[in-house]
Amino acid sequence: ALTAGIVGLPNVGKSTLFNAITKAGAEMANYPFATIEPNVGMVEVPDDRLARIQEIEPADKIVPTTFEFTDIAGIVKGASKGEGLGNKFLENIRQVNAIVHVVRAFDDNEITHVNGVIDPLDDIDTINTELVLADLDAVDKRLPKVEKAAKTPKDKDAQEEFAVLQKIKPVLEAGKSVRTIEFNDDEQKVVRGLFLLSSKPVLYVANIAEEDMSDPEASKYFKQIQDFAATEGAEVIGLSARAEEEIAELDDADKEEFLTMAGVTEPGLNKLIRAAYHLLELRTFFTAGGKETRAWTFKAGVKAPQVAGVIHSDFERGFIRAETIAFDDLDQYGSVKAVREAGRRRSEGKEYVVQDGDIIEFLFNV
Ligand code: GDP
Repeated sequence: ALTAGIVGLPNVGKSTLFNAITKAGAEMANYPFATIEPNVGMVEVPDDRLARIQEIEPADKIVPTTFEFTDIAGIVKGASKGEGLGNKFLENIRQVNAIVHVVRAFDDNEITHVNGVIDPLDDIDTINTELVLADLDAVDKRLPKVEKAAKTPKDKDAQEEFAVLQKIKPVLEAGKSVRTIEFNDDEQKVVRGLFLLSSKPVLYVANIAEEDMSDPEASKYFKQIQDFAATEGAEVIGLSARAEEEIAELDDADKEEFLTMAGVTEPGLNKLIRAAYHLLELRTFFTAGGKETRAWTFKAGVKAPQVAGVIHSDFERGFIRAETIAFDDLDQYGSVKAVREAGRRRSEGKEYVVQDGDIIEFLFNV
């Protein structure tokens, strides 16, 4: 499964956030075959559409889809030079599909900051610089080989890669992440094959003070992080890791009360889960009408047979067609029967690109 890695300087609240994630964790009874590493936190993706489908097409239970966060411990300055757990840290980042970068955005004299001052931009820069240096190292190692290969007139791939590497190198030398560069589709393919750390999609978590929860923008630190994130086209989620950890331990009634008191409508964790899900270009489809009303995850742009394979490989192998209703149609017409009568139930074939919110019944040969 695609996963987002939680990174950040020591003492910014990563473990606290990861604890909140594990405590909020998925109802494991729903995922009997899932194996989970200790540094992975599996959460359910909040989705109001499930309750609405269940209301229209009642089933025995609701099963949300899930998302995995990976806790990546221990970055320090010099990681790219192998300081601290440097190499292990970079290796762990290489394995994840997106980065959730936690930044301290609260004042608290009781809690030491590694650099002695609260300076979110400096913190972000410290980590991004390590990733940039590691990438620069990789690019420098690769360039001479590719340059040589590119001299062979026939070797178009090498020429293409050489051009991309030349485009990347000066940006890294200027201390900027690869994700700040605009690439066309062909270049993008080459970039993906390079597995560079600073090209991974990122979102920032501003770990704000509890009293700023209802209005993160009131925090000057949050604003600073937001301005920087804009230069990378990245999103910022403001939450208090400590509050999220408390919220995750409460039962539903107490949770409501806590959220009301804090002046928010939902836990910050929910916002984070949704943002990370979208960062990875994940989408949701539903199955309904059987024993369970269930949400499933697929990658945006994927066609029906592959999406059927998310449920079971047999569904993909024997795919015939996908009987599909858009959630919005079901919501609007209020019953499957009414959707059918309106001619809004579609029979989709192998080439159908599944859309977020599709409620699907797959027909397949066994
Ligand atoms: P890590 O080293 O990044 O994993 O940081 P921790 O999660 O261990 O947090 C470092 C310290 O900051 C701990 O003492 C936490 O209790 C505290 N902390 C974490 N989040 C918050 C927060 O939102 N507000 C305040 N005031 N303290 C926090």
